[in-house]
Amino acid sequence: MTLKEDYDLLLEKSKKAIIYQMIQAQLGWDFETYMPSKGGQQRSMQFATLAKDVHKLLTDPEIGELLDRIKSDPEYTSLSETQQRNLYLINRDYERQTKIPSELVEKIAKHQVIAIETWKKAKAAKDYEMFKPELKKALDLQKKRAHYLNPDKHPYDVLLDIYEPNMTSAMITVLFNQLKEGLVPLIKKIQSASNQPDTSFLTRTCSIPIQEKLATDLSNVVHYDLDRGRIDTTEHPFTTGYYQDVRITTHYYENEFDNSLFSTMHEAGHAIYEQNLDEEFIYQPLGQAASLGLHESQSRFFENIIGRSSEFWEFYMPKFKEITGEIFADIDNKTFLHAINHVKPSKIRVTADEVTYSLHVIIRFEIERDLSEGKITVDELPKIWNQKYKEYLGVDIEDDSEGVMQDTHWAAGLFGYFPTYALGNIYNAHILHVIRKEMPNYDNLVRNGDIKPILAWLTKNVHKPASLYDPADLMQRITGEPVNTQYFIDYCTQKYSQLYGF
Ligand code: ZN
Repeated sequence: MTLKEDYDLLLEKSKKAIIYQMIQAQLGWDFETYMPSKGGQQRSMQFATLAKDVHKLLTDPEIGELLDRIKSDPEYTSLSETQQRNLYLINRDYERQTKIPSELVEKIAKHQVIAIETWKKAKAAKDYEMFKPELKKALDLQKKRAHYLNPDKHPYDVLLDIYEPNMTSAMITVLFNQLKEGLVPLIKKIQSASNQPDTSFLTRTCSIPIQEKLATDLSNVVHYDLDRGRIDTTEHPFTTGYYQDVRITTHYYENEFDNSLFSTMHEAGHAIYEQNLDEEFIYQPLGQAASLGLHESQSRFFENIIGRSSEFWEFYMPKFKEITGEIFADIDNKTFLHAINHVKPSKIRVTADEVTYSLHVIIRFEIERDLSEGKITVDELPKIWNQKYKEYLGVDIEDDSEGVMQDTHWAAGLFGYFPTYALGNIYNAHILHVIRKEMPNYDNLVRNGDIKPILAWLTKNVHKPASLYDPADLMQRITGEPVNTQYFIDYCTQKYSQLYGF
């Protein structure tokens, strides 16, 4: 076989696995949205069977043989940059997959469904003891997985690398310590400022049909293409899909319209990334986001950098008032803007403001790191969790459902995932800095609701390169320098000193 034939055969195999993974994702979406409450057992079987088949596809020994043949082919360097990158990604995935026994893959998939179901019940009952055995098991399974992947590396670094390629616990510790140093004094200044927002109007009753209308309208404003997407509801909003079918979820509470509004903007940002990956890379390993951190930079760009800016609300307020009718007729722009940017240390991560949010993530990162090092145990988690919340955010946790059980991630076995949220903040402020330099009319574009040129910039620089580069390399290409936390600290300082008047 020629080099080209080998390469094409390899890509064909990879394509099949990608399609299977799309099916898994769609079943996952159904599991979270419309599956009947008693369908769990059956779905667990479907997930386990698919996971086994996907694992078989990804560990097909022929992939290894093809990779070996291609790598040793004297014509190898005649392959293009994108072809070589596809090979690198297939090789990385193949090595990751072949190191994990299929029994473990199946065990993890089965346990995930059970742990999530238990987490839901335990959270509702505020009963950590009920969740604890499943959490222990989830952590053990992930530690085993990390050990199989690379027994010589710190297990937490192995897990981190899955979500943020080539990022280590040591690197994150440095970035997060810088964030802590910058944000903690800023939060103190904000809290002691005399100009505090009036947020009372945020709890005014806003019917679900009105909120649905806002969600659809805002999706259109930011060019989340609903002909290739849809909006449904789940307890925890998320995005799933690929190119032509990218779905988001939100949740509607009648007395928290801002909740669905900003979660829609957030998830739309994720969806926009997926919808704008380079068409040329569809069904190839290249056709996926560079990392979860970069994904989060895009969701936060639309949620916070655009969605919570004064410029955006100069544009959107008339439309907002048109859709919401009399409900907020008496609220002026300034009051509105300050309220949606209310900084208040709180217990819950998903509703945290953009300044305190990173501290929620830092707490989880430190706990995960210490758990995986065996410095702390699952039994101690509620105590440690509550201590850290008191220390970093000054809040008291009264029960574990609003404490250590608030997130679904650990039940799902997602250890090493949380840091990507705060990396998203660091990346997006850095990206904004570059956009402003390259597009001096950026603020005016937002003021006019003209998001298209901004989206075009993001597509060209962030979305389209897809997985051509590792996240740190992509950031270096976009910004011309290594990842720098200072831009996020500066962005927050400037924005919030203006809002709070200090
Ligand atoms: Zn997100």
